[in-house]
Amino acid sequence: MTFETLGLHPNIVKALSEAGYSKPTPVQEQAVPAALEGRDLLVSSQTGSGKTAAFMLPALNKLAGAEQSFQPGQKTPNQERQSARSRGERPRFQPAQPKMLVLTPTRELALQVTTAATKYGTYLRRVRTVSILGGMPYPKQMQLLAKNPEILIATPGRLIDHMESGKIDFSQLQILVLDEADRMLDMGFIEDIEKIVAATPESRQTMLFSATLDGVVGSMAKRITRDPLVIQI
Ligand code: AMP
Repeated sequence: MTFETLGLHPNIVKALSEAGYSKPTPVQEQAVPAALEGRDLLVSSQTGSGKTAAFMLPALNKLAGAEQSFQPGQKTPNQERQSARSRGERPRFQPAQPKMLVLTPTRELALQVTTAATKYGTYLRRVRTVSILGGMPYPKQMQLLAKNPEILIATPGRLIDHMESGKIDFSQLQILVLDEADRMLDMGFIEDIEKIVAATPESRQTMLFSATLDGVVGSMAKRITRDPLVIQI
């Protein structure tokens, strides 16, 4: 099996080949085609299995084509901001409207996912990634959010702060990923996660990754996914 036969865009395949990935890992072989079809996923796999690419590659593929769904003549939120600026108007405050959100338990993992997204998306236009992490100065984060990135990668606590102060609007969200969901629950993030999920459209695609799919993680997974494909590696 190759990355082409999984159905990925040539510009993604090119980035993967430059990263030295010769073929998909087992979790990628199962997850990518199903995610490209838009299915929800529940994946039990460990770090090192290639799980980051398993959700990031199909998501980038979807987002890279997403702007085509705008009607001819209709401006994207970013184009609206630009034309306000070119008319000499100060664009009115608009919250960031990400299309994809990845929640991770730690800053370190969020940064790894951000690096991976940037690497796999090198040859894709219009897919920008920003991480929102505890410990990062607020003015810096406000600046990053003002760019209206397509992808947000965040730890739950800091994200809730921005959400509650109206800086982020999840109404346009298409893809939600919970990475290392079991660790997020162990760290006490369940209420934050529930609040964030409740702010996203029900039509979203949800992908949950966890070392285990039993107990509390399993019951949360059931509540937030629809007819998911279960993958156990
Ligand atoms: P992860 O399980 O996402 O933490 O990935 C573990 C490591 O495997 C990372 O360093 C990735 O860059 C690398 N990796 C992911 N997929 C592949 C692949 N198909 N071929 C070679 N390396 C990969």
